[in-house]
Amino acid sequence: GWRSRAAFKLIEIDDRFKLIKPGMRIIDLGAAPGGWTQVAVKRGASHVAGVDLLPVDPVSGAEIVEGDFTDPAMPDRLKELLGGPADLVLSDMAPNTTGHAPTDHLRIMGLAEGALDFAMQVLAEGGGFVAKVFQGGSERQMLEPMKKAFASVKHVKPPASRKESSELYVVATGFRPDRLNS
Ligand code: SAM
Repeated sequence: GWRSRAAFKLIEIDDRFKLIKPGMRIIDLGAAPGGWTQVAVKRGASHVAGVDLLPVDPVSGAEIVEGDFTDPAMPDRLKELLGGPADLVLSDMAPNTTGHAPTDHLRIMGLAEGALDFAMQVLAEGGGFVAKVFQGGSERQMLEPMKKAFASVKHVKPPASRKESSELYVVATGFRPDRLNS
């Protein structure tokens, strides 16, 4: 079985966008307790690395790294673990909630922006990026750089995501590193 309800969100996102393909190298940021990592392996990725601040029970077919994704050594460490640049970077990262919605939203957006920055360092040309974001305000800040760096940028609210929550996911495909500095 899946370790998290969150697993269904990735299943729904992937059913719609067909992101995970056999043989891919995939990085899962904020992997604990391991649901998305399980889905990536199950859908045929050949190399999967999950990263979290918290320990994650081993997932067969994946490597788990306990640590902070913002550690400057992390991009190279993960590329080495995967044997090359990633085809897909997933981020379901969320901070511990404070109960103060504006603060929680800002923190989530900080993680999503960090994940985007991370993705740009590890993705192969043509690669994809999925991140949890929040509806409203600061979410737009990420759009400009994303539209430049990816051929397609879309938002999705998977049915498994609670309707009351303003959580949604951004799905970017077709990474084009040559566009980054222009
Ligand atoms: N997708 C997971 C699943 O299906 O099991 C659930 C992920 S959970 C919603 C969010 C995770 O992000 C938490 O486990 C948290 O520890 C992790 N996280 C938050 N900040 C992080 C950071 N700076 N580096 C690594 N992981 C982080």
